[in-house]
Amino acid sequence: MERVKVLVVGAGPAGIACGIEAKNAGIEPTVILEKAPYVCDTIERLYRPGKRVDAIYRGVEVEPIGICKFETETKEAFLERIKKWIEEYKLDIRLNSEVNYIKRVDGLYEITVNSEPKFLADFVVIAIGIFGQPKKPDYPIPKEVKNRVFFEPPNICPSSGKVLVVGGGDTAAEVASFLCGNCEVYLSYRRPQFFRINPVNLKILEERVAQGRVKLLLGTDIEGIEAEGERVKVRYRDGKVDTYDFIYYCLGGSTPKGFLKYIGIEFDLEDRPKLKEFYETNLPGVFLAGDIAVPKGSIQLAFNTAHLIIKAIKERL
Ligand SMILES: Cc1cc2nc3c(=O)[nH]c(=O)nc-3n(C[C@H](O)[C@H](O)[C@H](O)COP(=O)(O)OP(=O)(O)OC[C@H]3O[C@@H](n4cnc5c(N)ncnc54)[C@H](O)[C@@H]3O)c2cc1C
Repeated sequence: MERVKVLVVGAGPAGIACGIEAKNAGIEPTVILEKAPYVCDTIERLYRPGKRVDAIYRGVEVEPIGICKFETETKEAFLERIKKWIEEYKLDIRLNSEVNYIKRVDGLYEITVNSEPKFLADFVVIAIGIFGQPKKPDYPIPKEVKNRVFFEPPNICPSSGKVLVVGGGDTAAEVASFLCGNCEVYLSYRRPQFFRINPVNLKILEERVAQGRVKLLLGTDIEGIEAEGERVKVRYRDGKVDTYDFIYYCLGGSTPKGFLKYIGIEFDLEDRPKLKEFYETNLPGVFLAGDIAVPKGSIQLAFNTAHLIIKAIKERL
């Protein structure tokens, strides 16, 4: 059993920022466990090549409070920045290490990795994000259309076809603007107007709409979908029906409640993890960082949660 002071679960922006803040505060040993074979799985997997990583995300400017900060840049430049930080701060990151369980043992936490108890830690920071579980609609997705319906943004644009993008955030706007390169694109959003897209994405989307390359279906709600031959038939609540070749749902992610509840983290009446000051859970010394700690996450917010958590841990040591 390896004995550490701080065990960080997840090497996304929040987990890496925890490692950097801990190194800077002289908290050793701090180990970061990442289930993927590389760091920043959400960014590697879900951001398409060349995507802008916006410092102001969802239209919200977040003032950096700790060591980690960045300016708007491409996915590749952002990942290069992360790589440099990992080298500069000599972070101890163990890849291919999925945390399955955390339990209290004699005042410490025992961490099970890839089904084996491997670490004993004074403090645990869980920074596993929400994008392991993309949000899905309430209606069923028939199995006949599963290869035409996607819950993650595409990296490659289909060569042609009529495509429906569902959602009203930055990702939906980016995906619609991207897909209209080759496809006939419709964007369905429940509300009558966009209210949380950043100005750059909105401008690009409006240009595509003006060019007739994206058609907006604002104030539309989908009742259900079904197979129609090789295509997907969509029934809207207002009675309209249309068919598409592909559907891309961009509804965001969802808190991995199963895992958090399994290890004993309590949730409030709104089904959000109950958090005290500095994002500490009901398990003393177990903190949540990044997207799972805040309702509307972003990279800079993830960095900031890490700063506050490590500061709180430092004060207790
Ligand atoms: C398509 C898309 C575009 C976005 N664009 C922007 C943008 O432009 N600007 C912006 O600020 N934000 C953007 N975001 C949001 C941003 O990506 C998140 O806010 C940020 O990644 C949160 O960081 P995190 O470290 O909390 O979680 P994540 O980045 O999700 O990292 C969690 C890490 O934990 C690992 N993990 C999960 N479970 C386990 C486990 N059991 N054991 C070990 N490791 C585990 C995962 O593999 C992953 O590497 C975007 C999100 C998406 C999906």
